[in-house]
Amino acid sequence: MSLPKPPEYLHHEPTQQEAQTPPCDTGSTATQLDGHQITALTDARNAALRHEAFKFALQESVRGLHKLGRIRDMLGFALAMWTLFVLWVIGNRASQLHDIAGIVATGLSLAVTTFAVWSFVAKWDEQVEKKNELAAKLNSFLMTYQKLYEADHPDVAKLRAWRLGLGDLDELRNHRLVTLDKRSKQAGHQHVAMKYINLDLKCDMCGKEWRPAFATALKSYSRFTKTCDNCGVKT
Ligand SMILES: [Zn+2]
Repeated sequence: MSLPKPPEYLHHEPTQQEAQTPPCDTGSTATQLDGHQITALTDARNAALRHEAFKFALQESVRGLHKLGRIRDMLGFALAMWTLFVLWVIGNRASQLHDIAGIVATGLSLAVTTFAVWSFVAKWDEQVEKKNELAAKLNSFLMTYQKLYEADHPDVAKLRAWRLGLGDLDELRNHRLVTLDKRSKQAGHQHVAMKYINLDLKCDMCGKEWRPAFATALKSYSRFTKTCDNCGVKT
């Protein structure tokens, strides 16, 4: 599937008690907030949760690309070493050992070529650059939110403005190089769901409420088990 533009990973539906009090600790101002303001605060918090998951997913994707890059480099190094071994150690081109070594070298060459073409076509380096750029901007937005959230008296107007400000990231978020694979997206959801376990976050796609037991169960799911693309829970 095409992932995720814009991110709609997870959300928290206010409980009855929370519906009467805002998601921030407002102290004595709690009773002064009307329904619209509480909705604005909840909306800002859900946006923060979604974008924190998105940021983690981007970082997970970058980690995956770095890993692929290391495999590509190691294959190239192995091919170079193997070629030297064949040329200078085996020597005798008429030997059976030379033939076997030639087959191994051919396999390594194909693997190196495949990884080189793959990294070029998929633009791994450019992907890493764009994803890191977006993750850094998201981090800045999330830090701003944290400051607003932790303020003694939440400034609803500022939180609304912060929420709207996320739209500034649309161009970068919709960039063709900012794509996420299913595993990275699931990792983002699971990271945030476990971090804020007390919020009972719900998946935007399958609607399942996150449970700590899922973290253990996920490890036992085989690749043939049908799981939600968004949270990774069995469907
Ligand atoms: Zn789900």
